[in-house]
Amino acid sequence: MSKPKQQSLFEEEELPENPMPWERESAQDLYLAQIVLNRPVDRVFHYLVPESMRALLRAGHRVQVPFGRGNQLSPGYCVGVGPAEENQPSIRFKTVEAILDSRPLFDAKMLKLTRWIADRYLCSWGQVLECVVPAGVKNQAGTRMVTLFELAAPSHLAGDDSAALIEKLPAKQRAVFDALKSAEKPLTLEELTQSAGCGSGPVQSLKKKSLIRSHQKRMQHFENDDDVVHAHIKKEDDLELNPDQCRALDQILEAIRGQRSETFVLHGVTGSGKTEVYIQAIREVVSYGQQAIVLVPEISLTPQAIQRFRSRFDSVAVLHSHLSDSDRHYHWQNIAAGKVQVIVGARSAVFAPAPHLGLIIIDEEHETSFKQETAPRYHAREVARKRSELESVPLILGSATPTLNSWLRVIEKKDTLISMSKRVNDLPMPNVNIIDVRNDVQIRRNDSIGRVLFTGMQHALGAGGQVILFLNLRGYSPALWCKGCGNSVKCPHCEISLTWHRDKNLAVCHSCDFSAKPPTHCPGCGAPGLRFVGTGTQRLEEEVKAKFPGYKCQRMDSDTMRGVGSHARVLNAFAAGEVDILLGTQMIAKGLDFPNVTLVGVVDADTMLHQPDLFASERTFQLIAQVAGRTGRGMQGGRVFVQTASPTEPAILKAAEHDFLSFAKYEMGHRKEMLAPPYSHYARVILRGPQEEHVQEFARQLSQILSDAAEEKKLSVQILGPAPAPIIRLKKYFRYHFQLAAVNVEEILQLWREVDGKLPREKGIEYIIDVDPVNMR
Ligand code: ADP
Ligand code: ZN
Repeated sequence: MSKPKQQSLFEEEELPENPMPWERESAQDLYLAQIVLNRPVDRVFHYLVPESMRALLRAGHRVQVPFGRGNQLSPGYCVGVGPAEENQPSIRFKTVEAILDSRPLFDAKMLKLTRWIADRYLCSWGQVLECVVPAGVKNQAGTRMVTLFELAAPSHLAGDDSAALIEKLPAKQRAVFDALKSAEKPLTLEELTQSAGCGSGPVQSLKKKSLIRSHQKRMQHFENDDDVVHAHIKKEDDLELNPDQCRALDQILEAIRGQRSETFVLHGVTGSGKTEVYIQAIREVVSYGQQAIVLVPEISLTPQAIQRFRSRFDSVAVLHSHLSDSDRHYHWQNIAAGKVQVIVGARSAVFAPAPHLGLIIIDEEHETSFKQETAPRYHAREVARKRSELESVPLILGSATPTLNSWLRVIEKKDTLISMSKRVNDLPMPNVNIIDVRNDVQIRRNDSIGRVLFTGMQHALGAGGQVILFLNLRGYSPALWCKGCGNSVKCPHCEISLTWHRDKNLAVCHSCDFSAKPPTHCPGCGAPGLRFVGTGTQRLEEEVKAKFPGYKCQRMDSDTMRGVGSHARVLNAFAAGEVDILLGTQMIAKGLDFPNVTLVGVVDADTMLHQPDLFASERTFQLIAQVAGRTGRGMQGGRVFVQTASPTEPAILKAAEHDFLSFAKYEMGHRKEMLAPPYSHYARVILRGPQEEHVQEFARQLSQILSDAAEEKKLSVQILGPAPAPIIRLKKYFRYHFQLAAVNVEEILQLWREVDGKLPREKGIEYIIDVDPVNMR
């Protein structure tokens, strides 16, 4: 496929390369920049701004500054600039070395937002800013310096000397001169020589005669793939909304028109048409010339979902993780220039530099991928909440299974609930059957597809329908088990069972990617004959192929979906009916909309339920409800089979009844009793080091210091633990953790700030703090 070339999207002025060396003026003339750096310490440093930069440097610029004892140049962010305050202590300041971008990367609101994130998630402002700007923007990927030619100034050309020179020009130089004269903008050498039909010699000669001049500009010069530039997509009309959708839209429009930062929890069952509501709400803000941000889980950035936005709006930027640096840079510039109407992306798209933001939407707001697992450990939902407040725009949180966090805010009337309890076109919700596998003969024989599910699949496939099977474990067997000692073989670096991948005959750690030939003898007791137990997607695929030989089966998990575009290929094949059975991990649980899917099987509902995790029940409910939502979207209806050994578990029962309200009531009751989130906040401190006793002892020390500080400052923060983390060993390190718990998150933040910087250090031991963690492992 030929790649359309985009050129000259923007031009930027070159900056003076070496500012004049700063000469010290009298104290009241000090002009200072406040600079933060990408380091864990949350501190603002003051630097002198040289005279030559005063007119240019603004808050939001990226700069280069000397730092540390060696005065090594390092990048930093300017968060404020101006004359020194009266009481500024008169110390010797270092000087800002250079400004790195022609325009500031952040406006005042974005600076406020990032400052808030640093406070709320206990990291440094510099870390947040560093994370907000994509690498492609920092290294100006896809741009290069270009020399542009134009005629000399008219006043110069009008002089007698010049007129005489022009008169006598040889033919080729004349052609170049005329080409520039008729051009509407400065030309590159290539454009110029082409249009004048000559080489570069005449151009240089003209320059020597001072009849033309040149200057350098940085130009974007992208070779975007088709996915980024997509003008060819056929446009479609908006659908006519049903009464539920109209009601939802009206409420949102009211907030948009009133420029209110109201948060809506759009609780709509799967297939209730939430996306259509988003689209028409976006239509409104686009009509004002504003932009909308739509956050979706990375997994949902499927061509199918994206197509819906692209077919409705002229300019949609899709920010997914496969973008090249240059594409990211292209999008950033485009968005910042206000040329993009809708920004659709995963978590980090919440920072899209839209100049006139009108609306933020988070679809599938219950997804844990909205929380970042490395510093800054922000939750995109909370960041979106704050951004909506700063920009006075509404926020929509859409889901069929809202988080209990959002639900509590609805109950407390902080957020507005919009319910869409029916599917569009009066399609019924699918019938969900819970299958108790404890009595199933097939399962007893070590199969994964029980008798009932098997029969169901036969019927569905026989009637020409398609089937989706969901299993949350990849690989062939999730454990290598020793009959001798009863233990399973663990990763040598992590305390995690190795999964057998039969295709490559490798035992693989799903945490650190360690892999090795599976041992023939138990590394623990030396007994021979390890057994492969349990079923992953590879083994399930084998079973399906054996049981349904006449049907085409396709597996979809992170092992089969490594290549760019592999997602799209499989989903297109499934949509076209070339695949009968699609089986896979959570990758297939989200957002897919195939009318011909008449049966969905949840092969093992218990994998998630029995995790040692506060949120296990909530996640199980969400997963089953979401997977079930993948069927019954066409006229043939649909059925769901959930295989479980815990058929009376409320999370499973309520999901089968599509009854979010009573699940929420049940689970909230529990959480309230335990004063667990959302009735309180946790911050998790995780320590790791090479020696277990040291880590344990240091965890005890830290938690003691925090608990003493809480008492001294009269902060009601409870310390839970320390204890070994559920995954006690990860990538060679031993891990311990403890939780800070409080009803008011401010008290946790205050406590941490109280001790931060004063905490002892222990050689080889690292620790981090994760506020409002979603991952408890
Ligand atoms: P949700 O996001 O709530 O799961 P979708 O937005 O995917 O639901 O809608 C489900 C299906 O219904 C889609 O195929 C969509 O095109 C269709 N749909 C949505 N709204 C309408 C409507 N007002 N009239 C007809 N079809 C609709
Ligand atoms: Zn490992």
